[in-house]
Amino acid sequence: MKTTKSEKLFKKALNLIPGGVNSPVRAFKAVNSKPLFITKASGSKIWDADGNKFIDYVMSWGPLILGHAHPEVISAVKNVLKNGTSYGAPTEIEVKLAELIKKMMPSVELVRMVNSGTEATMSAIRLARAYTGRKKIIKFEGCYHGHADSFLVKAGSGATTLGIPSSPGVPDEMAGLTLNAKFNDINSVEKLVKENKNEIACIIVEPVPGNMGVVLPEDNFLLKLRQICDEEKILLIFDEVITGFRLAPGGAQEFFGVKADLTTLGKIIGGGFPVGAYGGKKEIMELVAPSGPVYQAGTLSGNPVAMTAGYTTLKILYENRKRIYKQLEEKAKTLAENFKAISKKNNVKIQINQIASMMTVFFAESEVKDYGTALKSDTNKFARFFNLMLENGVYLPPSQFEAMFLSTAHSDDDIEKTIIAFENSIKKLTL
Ligand SMILES: *Cc1c(COP(=O)(O)O)cnc(C)c1O
Repeated sequence: MKTTKSEKLFKKALNLIPGGVNSPVRAFKAVNSKPLFITKASGSKIWDADGNKFIDYVMSWGPLILGHAHPEVISAVKNVLKNGTSYGAPTEIEVKLAELIKKMMPSVELVRMVNSGTEATMSAIRLARAYTGRKKIIKFEGCYHGHADSFLVKAGSGATTLGIPSSPGVPDEMAGLTLNAKFNDINSVEKLVKENKNEIACIIVEPVPGNMGVVLPEDNFLLKLRQICDEEKILLIFDEVITGFRLAPGGAQEFFGVKADLTTLGKIIGGGFPVGAYGGKKEIMELVAPSGPVYQAGTLSGNPVAMTAGYTTLKILYENRKRIYKQLEEKAKTLAENFKAISKKNNVKIQINQIASMMTVFFAESEVKDYGTALKSDTNKFARFFNLMLENGVYLPPSQFEAMFLSTAHSDDDIEKTIIAFENSIKKLTL
């Protein structure tokens, strides 16, 4: 595979941007390689600067559930661009998006738009602290909620990938207010709640963690969190930045039948543009300025471009929900089943966690059900696997601790080619 143009661009970028990238995992550091510079994308495919073409399973890390450059999304955005890009004033489209979010995810009675998932989670915990008058928060090891100070304590995603889950620069005073429980271990939550009685403002959780690789919640884990929160007057925040509108039309809350007090959103609701949102019970959300005293603002929040892309995406998902979610799940299942069979045949130990259209192939001996078991994966083997898949035309997330995403644009032919690429890669891996 020729990569001379990407290499040249990376060399230049290294002198201008920290690590040559604007978000850490992109650098391909974890897979002992150098990043490809992307020039265009369409449907399920991306092309790099040297003209290599790949079937993409990163999908911009989750937003593109309809595939790259979906014609309806692009055309809606083109139309809105003609009338300007941002006014710093209310528009009809943001009201329409809020209405559709509420319709699809009924626990979100009021919603505030922001510009990234990080802003959404950061604002949601400020609100939870204001509402409860308490300072501490509980999160889970390996979950990622963006890069605000409160969350960079045993955080997932790039922080785990690069071995910096607890970042320098976060004051101890701040980190001390963030307590870490173990995902799928309700006792670890009960213990923290007991030790910090009447001090916990909220429990924030990715209902299906995607940022330590995909991990599935075990029986009733989310329901038990709900019960603890009700008993202890703690707010339950579901960080559905990934799972929202991906697991089901109503996100993880619909999928598992558990309602959150506050929900954070992002990725899919921006249709490929920078976006985030937080919402939930009216009584809580009414504390947000200007209806209440909890301050939060944004120059570009709710701008018509992102709102239009998000609204168009959600509308397509909603109108075709009976078909889309089933088809996405079937494609992911086909991949997972074939991957399992091929690795078994070749005596390569893998664990696949898959739910709806998200999955991770872990090079691990035993089941991955939390951060500790995820970290037992053979990351060197993953790195070799990643590079082999790339050479076979498949672009995976360049880290063991991330999720592969399917989109409606992934065709049966893509799935077939991916399975062939997997077989070739696994065979070479054993040589
Ligand atoms: C991506 C992500 C975030 C952060 O969103 P950004 O838009 O990158 O700031 C927060 N929570 C989860 C679960 C995410 O996957």
